Amino acid sequence: MKFVMIVPDGMADWSVKQLNNRTPLQVARTPNMDRVAAEGVVGQVLTTPVGLPNGSAVANLSLLGYDPHEAYTGRGPLEAAALGIDLAPGEIAFRCNLVTIDEHDRLRDYSAGEIPSRESAILINAIRKKTAEEVANVTFYPGISFRSLMVYRGTSRMEPVTTPPHDIMGQPFEKHLPEGAGASILKKLMLGTRRMLEQHEVNTVRVDLGENPANMIWLWGGGTAPRLEPFAKRFSKKGAVIAAVDLIRGTAVYLELDRIDVEGATGSTDTNYAGKGQAAIDALDDYDFVFVHIEAPDTAAHAGNVEEKVRAIEKIDREIVGPVHDALKERGDYRLIVVPDHATPIETRTHVGEPVPFALCGANVESIREMPFTEAAGNESGLKFDIGYELMPYFLRA
Ligand SMILES: [Zn+2]
Repeated sequence: MKFVMIVPDGMADWSVKQLNNRTPLQVARTPNMDRVAAEGVVGQVLTTPVGLPNGSAVANLSLLGYDPHEAYTGRGPLEAAALGIDLAPGEIAFRCNLVTIDEHDRLRDYSAGEIPSRESAILINAIRKKTAEEVANVTFYPGISFRSLMVYRGTSRMEPVTTPPHDIMGQPFEKHLPEGAGASILKKLMLGTRRMLEQHEVNTVRVDLGENPANMIWLWGGGTAPRLEPFAKRFSKKGAVIAAVDLIRGTAVYLELDRIDVEGATGSTDTNYAGKGQAAIDALDDYDFVFVHIEAPDTAAHAGNVEEKVRAIEKIDREIVGPVHDALKERGDYRLIVVPDHATPIETRTHVGEPVPFALCGANVESIREMPFTEAAGNESGLKFDIGYELMPYFLRA
């Protein structure tokens, strides 16, 4: 039997005035997601346990069947794995965003205008060189677009309280600088590199072109390497992951799930949807379980762009859910689930930790009542998982 989990990141939402008080999922044309719901069931799952940070790191560990209270140690270490960085015991990896600070010292943009990887690498390597001389035990690693990494290999206690930049857009950044053990090292790096970034040629050109300059680094989500049981050992399924963002690719490394690369997959709204759909279909030849993650709806929601979010949902439906479902039907027994990892409401432009809907169909999934695939249907459903990591064993049950 074949199993496919499709995760449109941040797709769940609240009613939006511009959409006549409906949600993007309600408004988007999703005949294929609705078919999954109609042929199967709509349910609801709480992917973010109370007390843990809202967002993809915790939510996707839950969806993959791991208790985040045990498995989650921070976003940084998961992304480090995707960059091929082996963290020795005690070494701590932090997500390093390139952000834009405005003339009033407010955090204007958590992604520095989704700066291209080519430009961010120049800036991060310049910071790497500068800090290597000035701060001990700190190394920076360029990543994809605005998402890079810093690894601390020192012996000082390093357990700072940090804030995701996408949670403080429009606010004075100084109020949200790291606090607690090790915070002084992070602040020295964040404040000590501002002048160099402001004056860097990459940014003077960006400003000339009217693009948001990457004029500050923002360090957050630090942690040591998690110790996770391989997915195949836990669920007796050979699995693969299709994702562009380092967070999911790194999680796959720790779970020993193979990563399938897709040309043109960007981790943003201009990603190669059809390519991801086709890669998922091709992967069914070699794998029992395929996990397809698409960042686009979350990117659109962080930008507060409701049209873009609706468009991304429609493309996922048309170019991934539909073709994959058809291919599964041709192959014999299967199960297919479509489930966002969390909600990223257009209104808040950041993640919230409330339950999300899922649509599930296939072998031994009885269709009880035909329902469209919406947040409201999830609310009304009798099939609820308050413990998110229990959904995977249910999905994979014999
Ligand atoms: Zn997410």
